[in-house]
Amino acid sequence: MEQTYFQKGFGLRTEIRPQLQETYRSQIVDLMRANGFRLDAGGLTFLLAMEFGFCYGVERAVEYAYETVAKFPDRKVFLTGEIIHNPHVNNKLQRMGIEFLPSSADKYDKVAREDVVIVPAFGLPAADLELLGKKGCVVVDTTCGSVLNVWKNVERYARLGVTSVIHGKFEHEETQATFSRTSLFPGAHYLVVRDKPEAADVSRYIAEGGERSGFMKRFSNAVSDGFDPDVHLQRIGLANQTTMLSSESLEIAEMLREAMRARYAEDEMGEHYHSFDTICSATQDRQDAVYGLKNKNVDIMIVIGGYNSSNTNNLAKISAKFAPTFHLEDATSILSGDEIRHKPAGTKSETLSRGWFPASARCIGITAGASTPNNQIGETIERILSFRSTINLQSILGAQ
Ligand code: SF4
Repeated sequence: MEQTYFQKGFGLRTEIRPQLQETYRSQIVDLMRANGFRLDAGGLTFLLAMEFGFCYGVERAVEYAYETVAKFPDRKVFLTGEIIHNPHVNNKLQRMGIEFLPSSADKYDKVAREDVVIVPAFGLPAADLELLGKKGCVVVDTTCGSVLNVWKNVERYARLGVTSVIHGKFEHEETQATFSRTSLFPGAHYLVVRDKPEAADVSRYIAEGGERSGFMKRFSNAVSDGFDPDVHLQRIGLANQTTMLSSESLEIAEMLREAMRARYAEDEMGEHYHSFDTICSATQDRQDAVYGLKNKNVDIMIVIGGYNSSNTNNLAKISAKFAPTFHLEDATSILSGDEIRHKPAGTKSETLSRGWFPASARCIGITAGASTPNNQIGETIERILSFRSTINLQSILGAQ
């Protein structure tokens, strides 16, 4: 029988490596890495966070997509949606001939048995995976191992009859895939909690009870079918979308633990409250690395990554605590030494600001989300330098 499900690539890494290097590599970033994550040029100092850019899950997903195109040159190749939240990477895959399926309910109608479908690093809802399995098409599943680890915990909770409380964004692909795992276990439930205010409402309901209809109205989009807070909040297990702010996830876990303590005796806690840290190490490392720039006297922080990238938004939130922060999609967001398009931390849309680069600014901190390739970091540094100096970066790079 022909193998139709692939999870480990096709052994074509050597063939695709030159293409990947050519598209995503940056000599400037390589140089900074070799020089202690620092570049001194044109009277400016750029400090790069010690963990930044492509994480292991994204790197693997992008590699598999390239391998898939090389492996099946004569077949139609689809992606179930964005492979990662970076417009440049997605556009490049489209230019390579990969078609992105729409988000509509009938999205799989155009997929035929002889086609190939790539599942992104975020994973895919259980029902979608089942549907693709029935179609008999080739499925290249790039779901990240850290996401699979979250699924393992959610499924363990479901087996125990424990409701999964997931700190995440309900509309995010990863969270949708994660809560869908409960559908594999009849009678299992979930609740998605976006932030601390929502966690406070859930905690209050657990500790003190409340008005059921009000609770259901507040969380109508974020619970499983048949969810009843009076029944399904009696035994809960915590999980996270892997890219959330880890400090917030820990606080939410603690809020819910305290609520359970208020309601149940200490010796009953093992029965009612389960917790497992499912923030992925790559997310944690990137967040820690931004904190690492906090005491380095940076005048400005530049955070590069898709506006819909959860982990990039969280990096911007962290750096905004200690420096003026500009979250850019790419180098072209910097219009001049005066004007910049960016998404302020904690807001939902892009804005245009003036005076972003004061003459007194000498030290610029840089980081990039887990879905941002190095070439975009290098291009951003080059662009910033171009507004302050006529230095020829190529001469610096050539001298190395
Ligand atoms: S951010 Fe974490 S979970 Fe998501 S793809 Fe990267 S390594 Fe995997």
